[in-house]
Amino acid sequence: MNTNLEEIKNLLKKKKIKLTYQRIKILDYIKNRKKHSTVEMIYNDLLKEIPTISKTTIYNTLDVFIKKRLIVPVSIPGKDTRFDGNPSWHHHFICEKCGRIIDLDIRCEYLEKGMVEGHRIKEFYSYFKGICKDCLEKDGEVKCKFLTEKR
Ligand SMILES: [Zn+2]
Ligand SMILES: [Zn+2]
Repeated sequence: MNTNLEEIKNLLKKKKIKLTYQRIKILDYIKNRKKHSTVEMIYNDLLKEIPTISKTTIYNTLDVFIKKRLIVPVSIPGKDTRFDGNPSWHHHFICEKCGRIIDLDIRCEYLEKGMVEGHRIKEFYSYFKGICKDCLEKDGEVKCKFLTEKR
């Protein structure tokens, strides 16, 4: 019925994590539903489907997923930790208007090499902050810019 759930099960099997209904649902949530979710978001949404789920279970499950590198934590000062369904290193854009965290598909030679100015990168925390294109569009800012460029 749901092919995504099959993929999720295979991912868990590959990482030798014992399949449980809750683990499958939590990983599915982060990978397929909300890609940068907080524990609060996971808990509130999954509680509707799994009334027995607890925050402790979610914390423990996320711990396992992070250790096996199925997901990565994203720390943003002043905000709750987000859990990112995309475990490869990538840049983020944070919108200060709508609060969205958006994956950026930009090349980064340092991340590709794992080195920066001779230093080996082991962890990576970096993001751009501003106003996302959807919010810009709503404000009509894109249009204004377009008009000035035309002149
Ligand atoms: Zn926005
Ligand atoms: Zn991300």
